[in-house]
Amino acid sequence: MINSCTYEDLLLDSNDDMNELIAKSYASFCDCMNSEELSFMNQKILYKKEKDLQYMKEFGYLHIASMENEMKIRIFDKNRMMYIPLIKNILADCSKKSCSNIAIYKDNKDICIWCRKNKYLIVLSPREKGYLLNTAYPVIYDRKIYTIEKKANENGL
Ligand SMILES: [Zn+2]
Repeated sequence: MINSCTYEDLLLDSNDDMNELIAKSYASFCDCMNSEELSFMNQKILYKKEKDLQYMKEFGYLHIASMENEMKIRIFDKNRMMYIPLIKNILADCSKKSCSNIAIYKDNKDICIWCRKNKYLIVLSPREKGYLLNTAYPVIYDRKIYTIEKKANENGL
């Protein structure tokens, strides 16, 4: 077991304005999409590459970068965008080298990669040709952390 999660400095700056955060987090998402070597359990990571016509960005990105509000409309979320650079590192390093901060578990059909150190959850959905990056988000509420830890204990891989 190693402890490799020393990349808090990868988080984007919360002082950046919305447009900067969108640009930087999108660049980071594209870096993931373009990384051929990125894989999970020896299978490719897949992305929802279809583009939204309003933003001209992939749905895979928009889903991770935004949150649904009370009106059921998805709006860009600062906190979610700040964490996007962690995705590549967790997939490339932590989940491969059995990082001591990582728990991997099954949640119905999905595979969850939980980084305890950064309180960040990555959800992958198995597909025929690999694992679809379904969503990823920082977990803020203790109640949700409790549920994640419970599932990790019961359905750990
Ligand atoms: Zn780690």
